[in-house]
Amino acid sequence: MKTKIIPMDEKHIDKEALKEAGKIIQSGGLVAFPTETVYGLGGDALNEESSGRIYQAKGRPSDNPLIVHIYRMEDLYPIVEQVPETARKLADAFWPGPLTMILPKSDIVPRATTGGLDTVAVRMPMHKVALAFIEAAGGYVAAPSANRSGKPSPTLAKYVAEDMDGRIEMIIDGGENRIGLESTIVDLTEGIPMILRPGYITKEMLEEVLGEVRVDKTVLDNCSGQPPKAPGMKYRHYAPKGELTIIGGPQERVVDEINRRTKRMKEKGEKVGVIGTDDTVSGYLADSVKSAGDRKEEATIAKALYRILREFDEEGVTVIYSESFDASEENGIGQAIMNRLLKAAGHHLEQI
Ligand code: AMP
Ligand code: MG
Repeated sequence: MKTKIIPMDEKHIDKEALKEAGKIIQSGGLVAFPTETVYGLGGDALNEESSGRIYQAKGRPSDNPLIVHIYRMEDLYPIVEQVPETARKLADAFWPGPLTMILPKSDIVPRATTGGLDTVAVRMPMHKVALAFIEAAGGYVAAPSANRSGKPSPTLAKYVAEDMDGRIEMIIDGGENRIGLESTIVDLTEGIPMILRPGYITKEMLEEVLGEVRVDKTVLDNCSGQPPKAPGMKYRHYAPKGELTIIGGPQERVVDEINRRTKRMKEKGEKVGVIGTDDTVSGYLADSVKSAGDRKEEATIAKALYRILREFDEEGVTVIYSESFDASEENGIGQAIMNRLLKAAGHHLEQI
């Protein structure tokens, strides 16, 4: 299959190209598209064969459910059993935007889309190309991140192409995603709302709207033996090809420790990459040193993380060291950053 790549930015929506993209979805095909979080791999959410094709293209285990994307609020009602007050409030506050809600599904959503579950994950993204594409596609687009299973989520169309070329009909190239980490997932199906995956919409922001919100224990802990509530979170994820270790501790000591390890690894013939921050990058000795951004502006770090992991892959880096980030609950998206980084490192974090 030849994969067509169509450039499109939010200021210049190409209606003709979107009509073609919509037709692909309605006839059971797949289109990757930009959102504000990461690139999505879209298929018709109400067609079980399309969902099957998404799993196949990603190489994803089929018990790992997909997120259903909508472009207007009224389309939520047909796909869920009921819309609780909590969901209405969150939609008012954060949709369109980087928030996914888990709700009891209705009969029209096939189990192939929900990984066999009776619940469905729903999001209304904010990216204008995404919204126009979902509308052209008939209103319900199932889309996980557009990477091959296990790899870092793509935040640029060239990384979608690397993973999906020849496997899907079209890629809509909207440039670099603004946020760079996947949506916050909140489960509204049981008593107190529970964050299953942290993201740009933080616990604090949700609590302002809902009152008490909990965070699934497996978000930062390895908790072996305890399955996470979002089935996808149990799989190895976001992993670069190089062996990644996170080193936590006081900044100066971390730089020294990473340099000591870098030297040792280089002597063994490894190609070493380091993820530092604006304040520290000039102090590292590795083959490839990248700043994730400014610690005072954690959004910059969220945006850069997956791109950096992909760049290390491109450069053939075999060993990676990363600084650690503050994952305390009060610290906004630090929790989302550490959740992804820990998974990318197979939970290999050393405190010094
Ligand atoms: P991705 O879009 O690639 O980030 O994957 C979707 C994520 O949403 C995975 O981690 C899924 O496990 C999670 N998810 C989707 N539907 C549900 C659901 N019904 N219940 C819990 N988690 C879900
Ligand atoms: Mg994913």
